[in-house]
Amino acid sequence: MDYSTKAALEIKNFHLELDTAHFKDAIEDQGNQVIVHLVQSYPLHCPRCGQLMLKNSFKLVKILGPSLHYEPTIWSIRKQKYLCKPSSYY
Ligand SMILES: [Zn+2]
Repeated sequence: MDYSTKAALEIKNFHLELDTAHFKDAIEDQGNQVIVHLVQSYPLHCPRCGQLMLKNSFKLVKILGPSLHYEPTIWSIRKQKYLCKPSSYY
């Protein structure tokens, strides 16, 4: 399995998608490192009451991803935050 296939699978497993809505080049080669702009947003059920949770803004998380082009690769992920009002669960 090559790197790009592995990265594609990891992206799929973590519900990640390239953030093409906010970035013209979602994969940004800066010369010494690659930034991959991703977004993570999917329907999530509340762990307390089981209802579908409301989507409540995003937070930005950066992690080291599988390297692309033999350069360090940072996954810059806009992660969906959720809340469930009936359970006061954030
Ligand atoms: Zn709930």
